[in-house]
Amino acid sequence: MVALVCWTQTFVLVAARNAKAEKLVAILQSAASNSAAAAAGCSSGQLFLQPVWDRLRTREALTQSPFFPVIFSITTYVSFCLPFAALDLLCPWVPALRRCKIQPHSAPTARQLLSCLGQTLFQHLVFVFPLTLLHWARGPALLPPDAPALPQLLGHVALCLLLFDAEFFVWHVLHHRVPWLYRTFHKVHHQNAPSFALATQYVSVWELFSLGFFDMVNIALLQCHPLTVLVFHTVNIWLSVEDHSGYDFPWSTHRLVPFGWYGGVVHHDVHHSHFNYNFAPYFTHWDRLLGTLRHPHAQ
Ligand SMILES: [Zn+2]
Ligand SMILES: [Zn+2]
Repeated sequence: MVALVCWTQTFVLVAARNAKAEKLVAILQSAASNSAAAAAGCSSGQLFLQPVWDRLRTREALTQSPFFPVIFSITTYVSFCLPFAALDLLCPWVPALRRCKIQPHSAPTARQLLSCLGQTLFQHLVFVFPLTLLHWARGPALLPPDAPALPQLLGHVALCLLLFDAEFFVWHVLHHRVPWLYRTFHKVHHQNAPSFALATQYVSVWELFSLGFFDMVNIALLQCHPLTVLVFHTVNIWLSVEDHSGYDFPWSTHRLVPFGWYGGVVHHDVHHSHFNYNFAPYFTHWDRLLGTLRHPHAQ
C-alpha cells in the first residue's frame, strides 16, 4: 500500500511534465489527495492514521466544544465499567466467571455502584467541567492537518504511561506514608474493598486533579499530537478500570506483558487488601527497586 501511494505520487509528477496528460494528472492527483498520507510523504503510520484523523477533524464542532473532554471522559469510563458491572451481576450463577474473580465471594452492592457512579458524575460536572470551560474560553486549539506517524503515536503513549506510572508512584507512597495526607485525600479511594470497576474513580477531588495534572504535564512535555492524547486517555482509562475490576482473565494486560514488568489488576488488588505494597498503578519496576513489591500469592 505504501509502495502504491509512493508510486502514484511519482507517476503524478512525471505525468505533470506532459501537457497532454493534464486531465489524467488531475484525476490521479485527486486520487492521491484522498490519502493525506501521500501528501505527508508516504509515512506508513500516517497512511494508517490519516483517514482516522481526517474523520475526526470533520467533527471539529464536537471535538472543539467545551463539553467534549467531559463527555469523552465520562462516556469512555462508563463504557469500560459497565461490562464489569454486568459480570458482577452474573458472577454468582456462573462458576467459570467466579474462577476468574480474584476475590470470588465479594460483589459490590447496588448502593455501592450507584454511589461510585454518582460521585464520578458529580465531580466531572462540578469540578472538571468548569476547568475545561475556562481552558476553552482562552480560544480554540488549532488542529494540525497531518496525523502523527504510528511509531511516534505508540512511542508517546508508552512514554506517557511510564511517566504517569512514576509520578503516581511518588504521589501514592507519600499519601500512604504521611498519615494526614492519607486521612485527608487518599482514604476515600480505599473505602471500597475489595475493589470493583466503578470504584476506580471513587477518589477525592485532590486525587482527581493530581492525576489530571500528571497527564497534562506529560502530554505538554512530549508535545503529543491531539490524536495521541485521545489514544493515551482511552488506554489510561481502560488500564485503570482493569486495575480495579477484580477480574484476572487470560487476556488481562499483566498476562500479555512479559517478564512480570506489568503488575495490573492482581498487583493493585494486593494494594487494596494490604495497603503498604504495590504503589505503582501499572508497572512493577518502581516497587521492585524500592522494596514495596508484593506478589499476589505471597504469604
Ligand atoms: Zn492507595
Ligand atoms: Zn486503587
